[in-house]
Amino acid sequence: MAPSAARSRFVLLALFGMLVFTFLLFGGHGSSADGLSSRSQAVLNNEGSSGVSSGAVLTGHAIAPKLGNATAKAELGRAAWKVLHTTFARFPEKPTPEEKEALRSYVHLFQRLYPCGECAEHFGKVLAKYPPQVSSRSAAAMWGCMVHNIVNKRLQKPQFNCEDIGDAYDCGCGDDDKKEKDAAPA
Ligand SMILES: Cc1cc2nc3c(=O)[nH]c(=O)nc-3n(C[C@H](O)[C@H](O)[C@H](O)COP(=O)(O)OP(=O)(O)OC[C@H]3O[C@@H](n4cnc5c(N)ncnc54)[C@H](O)[C@@H]3O)c2cc1C
Repeated sequence: MAPSAARSRFVLLALFGMLVFTFLLFGGHGSSADGLSSRSQAVLNNEGSSGVSSGAVLTGHAIAPKLGNATAKAELGRAAWKVLHTTFARFPEKPTPEEKEALRSYVHLFQRLYPCGECAEHFGKVLAKYPPQVSSRSAAAMWGCMVHNIVNKRLQKPQFNCEDIGDAYDCGCGDDDKKEKDAAPA
């Protein structure tokens, strides 16, 4: 074989080798350095995101199916209200704009993804009429109490006295930052 033909063959082989290497590195289905499959990596990196605007994500249709089981619905409700009211009780009294936005988004997504579809559907209408109040801890807590009372009314349950909301959801965990500050020597 002529030397130039051998050189061309060598160059072609080298190119092919580089192509295979590149495919294995970036396009293959192997594991990443974190031991995650490329599919898991894609999920964590939010690949395949539809690009739907965040406004639509927050206020779209209720996602879960109907939850027929009344016992499950009541248990879920008690736990969910506890989480919501305690979240409001521990929200900052003077939140930053970013913290306000976080709470607003949380409440909307809480509604959309609430595991009882028919409850979520109804609660979506409540949120549309009474958007979450996120300006302060007391505003959020009062708002939470008020929307819970709207659900209570619909389910023919007694109304809660919202003046007591501050005491009702003291989870006993206190305000650690404040305690540490108070305990620090002057
Ligand atoms: C967002 C949401 C929507 C729901 N929608 C439906 C629905 O459409 N249909 C349905 O059947 N169930 C629904 N539920 C469940 C329902 O609200 C109750 O949780 C469930 O029926 C159990 O009621 P309960 O009497 O044990 O007390 P809950 O209403 O669960 O309340 C738990 C405790 O919270 C306290 N509480 C009561 N009212 C207030 C208030 N206003 N503010 C602060 N604390 C209060 C009381 O101490 C009470 O014991 C929903 C729950 C949630 C979180």
